Amino acid sequence: MSEQANSHRWPSRLRFNYGFLLEATLGTFRVTELDYPDVHAEDIILRPLKGKITATRTSEGIYISGRLKSKLPTECMRCLEPTEQPITIKLDDLFYYPPHLAPEGEFVVGENGFIDLAPLIRELSLLALPIQSLCKPDCQGLCQECGQNLNEGDCGCQDDDIDPRFAKLRELL
Ligand SMILES: [Zn+2]
Ligand SMILES: [Zn+2]
Repeated sequence: MSEQANSHRWPSRLRFNYGFLLEATLGTFRVTELDYPDVHAEDIILRPLKGKITATRTSEGIYISGRLKSKLPTECMRCLEPTEQPITIKLDDLFYYPPHLAPEGEFVVGENGFIDLAPLIRELSLLALPIQSLCKPDCQGLCQECGQNLNEGDCGCQDDDIDPRFAKLRELL
């Protein structure tokens, strides 16, 4: 995806400076309100991204919790038209500090106390996406014979009792 190559040109707007929390006493927290019309999370674009993130200083690092609402562009699985899927992203993750004490594969607080939430938000967004996205609950899908989008009207194939598997062949003949 070309977005992926471009995503590092801009500093991530999902990168937050929590350096002050590292100096603070355990239990200190900071609530950050997010309200972006659109934002990159690595190679995906979230439009919009709204919600609150709470960062809390714990003995092991900085614990990030929160609930964000967004929408992801996707494709209707029945009619294949572009559509968007509302998603809820639930953050519930510990970023270890100091980084060398982190178990392998865990998130760590970056240099100078910066945490980039883009990789986490990207992963959670994709996980929040339902396997079956529909443009609307009663999407009629495509005609199996002629491929017409049945949401736009009946194509008249229904009366025809030709096996849809032969439709392609018939088109060729
Ligand atoms: Zn559809
Ligand atoms: Zn048809």
